[in-house]
Amino acid sequence: MKRIYMLLISVFQVLNLTAQTNDQEQIRKFYDLALTQGKAYDWLNYLSNQIGGRLSGSVQAEQAVTYTRAEMDALGLDRVWLQPVMVPKWVRGTPEFAYLESKPGYTSNIPICALGGSVATPPGGVKAGVVEVQSLEELESLGREKINGKIVFFNRPMDPKLLNTFQAYGGAVDQRSSGAARAAAYGAVGVIVRSMNLRLDDYPHTGSTNYGDLPDKDRIPAAAISTNGAEFLSTTLKLNPEVQFYFKLNCKQLEDVQSYNVIGEISGSSKPEEIMVVGGHLDSWDLGDGAHDDGAGCVQSMEVLRLLKKSGYKPKRTIRVVLFMNEENGLRGGRKYAAEADQKGEKHVFALESDAGGFTPRGFGFDSSDSDFEKIMGWKDLFEPYLSDHFTRGGGGADIRPLKKEGMVLAGLRPDSQRYFAHHHAQNDTFEHVNRRELELGAAAMTSLLYLADKYELGSTGN
Ligand SMILES: [Zn+2]
Repeated sequence: MKRIYMLLISVFQVLNLTAQTNDQEQIRKFYDLALTQGKAYDWLNYLSNQIGGRLSGSVQAEQAVTYTRAEMDALGLDRVWLQPVMVPKWVRGTPEFAYLESKPGYTSNIPICALGGSVATPPGGVKAGVVEVQSLEELESLGREKINGKIVFFNRPMDPKLLNTFQAYGGAVDQRSSGAARAAAYGAVGVIVRSMNLRLDDYPHTGSTNYGDLPDKDRIPAAAISTNGAEFLSTTLKLNPEVQFYFKLNCKQLEDVQSYNVIGEISGSSKPEEIMVVGGHLDSWDLGDGAHDDGAGCVQSMEVLRLLKKSGYKPKRTIRVVLFMNEENGLRGGRKYAAEADQKGEKHVFALESDAGGFTPRGFGFDSSDSDFEKIMGWKDLFEPYLSDHFTRGGGGADIRPLKKEGMVLAGLRPDSQRYFAHHHAQNDTFEHVNRRELELGAAAMTSLLYLADKYELGSTGN
């Protein structure tokens, strides 16, 4: 009896080892294909250099929809389609302008850009004294008496001590997203925010600001200045609190326009009703060409389906690439996709997003049940040779978050984040700052994860 038992154990061990070897070989194949015959970089080149920045509602966003749809068609997927979604259209207008004036006639120009969603300044611009604060709380403590008629300058830097720079971003971005709405309540005439950037340089970084339900007449113009500009203004203010700041924004919010999520899929061979999504967002800010944010995530997601097909792997489940529209200033694409999935009663079991830049992949973050996370941790060794085995809890991404249901697993690619915020939402988020191999390694890591999630039915309790 004992011998039969021992025999069974060794049979299981052999089976387990064989599965492990098969997985190693399959993953090696994905990496080899990505690194020798990859398409992601060429796609990104076109998106960045032939199309450029793809703000929702722009001609470039429309061109990106047409282009990626045609490229997906050429991959020979089982189905490619456009999902209509209405998106907000905000335009920057002619370039912004700002200076500080230390005494009448003595001015220094400051690099500035309007925050997405901001109202314009009056045609002659805004000129006023400046109150520097480090936080929304400090603004509140000063109150109307100190703020009325002034430009509020939010100058709390991202925390350089944090290794995960997304945490540093999360710890500072409330100034950009809510600063204008909060300062307006105390009678401020404008808001300027230190750019969300860990580096000292001359690029202003845009990003959404949100007025909430503040009536149009009470909205005040909001802009970001470069980190060097912020340091300069802060120092000048300490020497001379009477400094005046001038800025002029020419932006405008227009009516919503029709746009699309671009979707393609490989139908599952045995469980086609179980859907796994891989995606990024096709829109971008307008200052650069959106190569890192999030052209990289889009082309990596398309590459996942191409690599799966090219390797000859036949997924059991349906694998869908979704290029979401309007992540940056509305999230309409992500919401529309989830709402329609719900309406149709589609069963999504797993979703993976790449929206953290096209840098060297280090691993993934996961939002899952304990038992699914245990399963995932069992795959760590397979990623170790590729230095992408840093698996942590907490993950997903803005576009796939609305899909989340009990039992479903969300994941986010986690590239090295040290350089990301030097480019994020700025003029220097451009193609030449994406490294071909780093981009390809990310696509291979994502493909490997999708493969394992398919084979071992991750999130199978989802509905
Ligand atoms: Zn993004």
